[in-house]
Amino acid sequence: MASSRIAVVTGANKGIGFGIMKELCAKFDGIVYLTARDEERGRAAVEKLAKLGLTAKFHQLDIDDEQSIKGFRDYIANTYGGLDVLVNNAAIAYKNAASEPFEEQAENTIRVNFFGTLAVCHALFPLLRPHARVVTVSSSVGHLSKVSGDKPAATALREKLASPTLTEEELCALMNQYIEKAKDGTWKAAGWPSSTYDTSKIGVSALTRIQHRAFEADPKYEDVVINHCHPGYVDTDMSSHMGPLTVEQGAACPSYLALLPPNIKEPRGQFLWHDKQVVDWVKGPLPGPLNWLGDSRRAWTTFSGGGEERWEEQCGNAKGERRSDAKGDQCTEAEGE
Ligand code: NDP
Repeated sequence: MASSRIAVVTGANKGIGFGIMKELCAKFDGIVYLTARDEERGRAAVEKLAKLGLTAKFHQLDIDDEQSIKGFRDYIANTYGGLDVLVNNAAIAYKNAASEPFEEQAENTIRVNFFGTLAVCHALFPLLRPHARVVTVSSSVGHLSKVSGDKPAATALREKLASPTLTEEELCALMNQYIEKAKDGTWKAAGWPSSTYDTSKIGVSALTRIQHRAFEADPKYEDVVINHCHPGYVDTDMSSHMGPLTVEQGAACPSYLALLPPNIKEPRGQFLWHDKQVVDWVKGPLPGPLNWLGDSRRAWTTFSGGGEERWEEQCGNAKGERRSDAKGDQCTEAEGE
């Protein structure tokens, strides 16, 4: 069995995942697996890396498909016997203009982004070797403060999600509860935000904290470190290319976390901003005002559905021009990307 060190990036055929591939191919001492749900797109991305002088291997992995996850797990286990880096990057986000009913968006987004990520972790964590690094790409909207439904339910929900004794089962039940509340129209009254994407990212961030505690408590996971991060507002398909950061800039923080040296004291189990600063996931504050254009007016709205393009769609464009019909109350001034 090959003894190489192994790194895996999910959803790596484009966007931030592809940026992470470039970083890892250049800096990781071992074999880097570009995984993608679509074989053709994945292989084309490996070719693109080759043209840049970078070597990666490809394996199909659809985080929304049990058989695909099992096949990948078996392949890594049988070929290498272990895993050293896992970057949970794959995710989906509906656009504001999406015509699918809200409950359908909720079900699909939570299933892929939360339960799909969880399924990959369940399959691959047993393969993690000492000093392995796990990174889950969350978002600014995955911060606890984005649990912004009606009070007092939102306050109670934040308390539950922040609890140092929250279990994975309890978190899964909360995610399923959101899907149910989306169906009967009571999600806001139950404290949840009105964005299915935000909820999924809050879910993976809460999950990271639980997984961190599990690693710390189990000597089998010797110096295994997991962190979650906000990669910044990045120029990708997901942001409809409105994000001001390049994929290389968006890849900087996740790649840094994937390459943390052995026995590092910090960050462990923490939430990091794209500039690599540690942000308190429970208390905040979120960095801001925005500094990428040096203008504090720009903000990230948290109130409606859709993906990472919401700020631009509701408040202005990527150049910072404010739309005349932007609703002030939907565009919080101080939240930064
Ligand atoms: P993109 O939409 O550009 O890329 C998403 C990637 O995930 C694609 O490769 C896509 O594959 C893949 N993917 C989607 N579903 C699955 C699945 N079921 N199994 C495997 N792969 C899948 O998004 P970004 O690069 O912008 O986003 C990367 C990460 O960063 C996500 O977690 C996102 O939530 C997060 N993020 C992005 C921000 C931004 O501004 N762009 C801001 C904050 C967070 P395919 O090509 O087949 O669709």
